[in-house]
Amino acid sequence: MNKVILIRFSEIHLKGGNKKYFIKLLYNNIKHALKAFECTIENIQNRLIVKDYQEEDEIIEALRCVFGVHSISKAIQMDSDKNKIVDYVSNLNITGTFKCDVNRADKSFPIKSNDFACDLGEIILNNNPSSKVDIHNPNTVLHVDIRENGKTFIFYEIIYAYSGLPLGETRDGLLLLSGGIDSPVAGFCMAKRGLRQDILHFDSFPYTSPQAKEKVITLAKTINKFIGAKYMYVCSMTKLQEEFHIHCNSEYAINLLRRSMLRVANILCDKYKYKTIITGESLGQVASQTIESLTSTNSVAKYPVLRPLISFNKDEIINIAKDIGTFETSVLPYEDCCTVFLPQNPVIKPKIKDAEKEESKIDLEQLFLLW
Ligand code: ATP
Ligand code: MG
Repeated sequence: MNKVILIRFSEIHLKGGNKKYFIKLLYNNIKHALKAFECTIENIQNRLIVKDYQEEDEIIEALRCVFGVHSISKAIQMDSDKNKIVDYVSNLNITGTFKCDVNRADKSFPIKSNDFACDLGEIILNNNPSSKVDIHNPNTVLHVDIRENGKTFIFYEIIYAYSGLPLGETRDGLLLLSGGIDSPVAGFCMAKRGLRQDILHFDSFPYTSPQAKEKVITLAKTINKFIGAKYMYVCSMTKLQEEFHIHCNSEYAINLLRRSMLRVANILCDKYKYKTIITGESLGQVASQTIESLTSTNSVAKYPVLRPLISFNKDEIINIAKDIGTFETSVLPYEDCCTVFLPQNPVIKPKIKDAEKEESKIDLEQLFLLW
């Protein structure tokens, strides 16, 4: 009998022939997430377990950030021997209302789930006079998970993680990360669907401060446990923004900047084989996020632009930002390059041909040679 952390998968059971591949991916991602801890990880059918560890709570916190993990329990592992299970349950102290929940994945175990749950319930009642069965709203649930590998796991609590799919092996996504609230959440949302991402940030030094860049680096570190980045690119927009400011219609400044951001992203995708670009845009949130604005920026993108927050309300985004620990950093009052040379009246419905006309006023090609 020993102490383990039991890990349940999400969605992987739907993967048919690819199930083994996804479990291996999840196993590797968990191994990476726990690399700072001494422990062993074991793959038993349909579950992973962590054994031989000390820092239980820290390990559980790290596991919660691994996509593909559905839920986690601190459990006791023992052989699936009816007498041993009964012995163990006989020694439990349970007060107040409770119920037993038996899951018999191993159909060779001699007693059906419901019957065994009743037997165990009776043992607990007999040994704990102050306990009482309540199957609808119990204070305590005793879970008995009888697995196919001849092992049984007994636990009380189920700690939910973020589910989703395990991060892939390759870094296919390029996340455009600003210092705001939305883009870290966008990276988190795409990572939840298994998309590993590197990061691209634009600054406009000296108009933006070193603190603004530091803030984004802090954000990048905070989300990195979710998105699995290896590189963060920081690209200066200073020269380009100055040129737009001097030569172009100021109403188009943000639209031109956005189009330039995507052109830089294209270059990195070409060079480093990213397959998609991720932004934190949400429909109608600001002038640069109307359908017309998004159409104008999309028209220069050579790769699919994923906008996972497109239908999110701001308060929904804020709730996630608070949950994943980025909110406090995001609201620090440092300026973003988007706020430099901010026009009084940004165009709400930009036209692609007008954006191109504005761009023709400067030597964009020459400026892009900077990158
Ligand atoms: P956020 O909270 O992410 O900054 P926002 O509501 O302020 O979003 P915008 O400033 O219009 O929106 O930016 C829209 C998206 O463009 C951002 O979510 C981000 O993906 C990208 N973006 C904006 N500024 C930058 C930047 N300085 N570096 C990289 N990407 C940026
Ligand atoms: Mg922003």
